[in-house]
Amino acid sequence: MLLALMLVVLLAASDFDLTPLRTLRSVHVGTGGVVETQYNPLGILGISAIGIAIVAAIGALISWLAPQFSGLSAGSSGSSSKAAVAASKSLERELSKVLSLIRGHISTNESYAKSLANAQTRLAGLPEADQVRVIVSLLVAENERMRQDSLELNSKLEDSKKQIETLRTSLTEVEEVVLKDPLTGVGNRRCFDVVMEKTLFESRQKNSVFSLIMCDIDHFKRVNDAFGHQVGDEIIKMFSRVIESGVREGDTVIRYGGEEFAIILPTTDQDTAKSVAERIRRQFESKKLTIRETSQKIGQLTASFGVAQFRSGDDVEMLVQRADAKLYDAKSGGRNRVATFGSSD
Ligand code: GH3
Ligand code: MG
Ligand code: MG
Repeated sequence: MLLALMLVVLLAASDFDLTPLRTLRSVHVGTGGVVETQYNPLGILGISAIGIAIVAAIGALISWLAPQFSGLSAGSSGSSSKAAVAASKSLERELSKVLSLIRGHISTNESYAKSLANAQTRLAGLPEADQVRVIVSLLVAENERMRQDSLELNSKLEDSKKQIETLRTSLTEVEEVVLKDPLTGVGNRRCFDVVMEKTLFESRQKNSVFSLIMCDIDHFKRVNDAFGHQVGDEIIKMFSRVIESGVREGDTVIRYGGEEFAIILPTTDQDTAKSVAERIRRQFESKKLTIRETSQKIGQLTASFGVAQFRSGDDVEMLVQRADAKLYDAKSGGRNRVATFGSSD
C-alpha cells in the first residue's frame, strides 16, 4: 500500500514519465566545460520503489497461487493431477524467470551509473573540449544501451505474461476436471472438502451461520432394477438439475456419492435451509417421467432430506454426521420428507 502510494507520488513528481525515475545520476556540462555530477534522489527512490513493488507483487502472486497448487496436487491421482503439477512447476519457473529479469534490470541500472562515474574519473586529465565531446558521446551510448535493455526487458516480461496467462487457463481446466463430477457436472467429494473448509473458515471469521442439506433419492435401486442403469443415470442427472435450480447463487451442490447429494448453504440458518430442501423435494416429486424411446412411464420419484446448521465447536465431520443422521430420520420416518433438528435435539 505504502509502496503503491510512494510510486504514485514519484510518478506524479516526474510528470508520469519514467525516465527520471530510472536515472541514478546525471552529468551536466556547465559553462567553460566544467563537468558536474548530480545524484538524482528521485531516480534512486524510483528504481528502488519500482523494483520492490514488482518483487512484492510477484511475491503476492506466488503466495496466492501456492495454496491452489498444493490443494490440487495433494492426494489427487491420474493425468489431471499430473497436469496440475506440471502446470504449477512451469508457472514457478516462469515466475522465477521474471524475478531474475527484474533483478538483472536493477543491477544493469547500477552498472550504467558506475560506468559513467568511472568514465568521469578517467576524463579528469583531458582538455575541456575533449571532455565535453567524450562525455556527450558516452551519454548517448549509455542512453542507447539503457533504452535497448528496457525494450528487451519489456518484451521478455510480455512473453512471460502470455505464458502465465496460458498456464492459468490450463490450471482452470485442470481444476474443473479435478473438482467436478463427470456425470452431473456438479461438484464432487473433493470439491465438497474444499468448499466446506472455506465455508467453515468464513463462518468463523464473520461469526455467521451456515447449513448443510444431505439428500438421497428414495428406493433408487428399484428404479435401476426396473429400467436399467442408463435410465438410472439420467434420473441422477435430472435430480441434480432440480437441486441446482432450487438453490441460490453462492450455494454449492455436490454429488456426494451414487444418488446422494449435499448442498452447502453459506450464511443460511436451518429454517431457511429447510424451506430450500422442501422446495426441491416438492419439485422432484412433481416430475412425471417417461422413457422417450419406449414411452414407458417411470412413475413418481421422491427423495429424502436431512438438514443441519453449523454449531460453534463443529468440525466438517460433525456437521456431516448430524445432517446424515437427519437424512436417516427422514428415510426411517417414511421417506419423501425433510428432517431437521428441533429445539429439543
Ligand atoms: P433408499 O430409499 O433407502 O435410499 O433406497 P435406495 O434403493 O435408493 O438405496 P440403496 O443405497 O439401497 O441403493 C442405491 C442404489 O443406487 C444402488 C446403486 O446401484 C445405485 N447407484 C449408485 N450409483 C449409481 C450411479 O452412478 N448410476 C446408477 N444408475 N445407479 C447408481
Ligand atoms: Mg437412495
Ligand atoms: Mg444412497
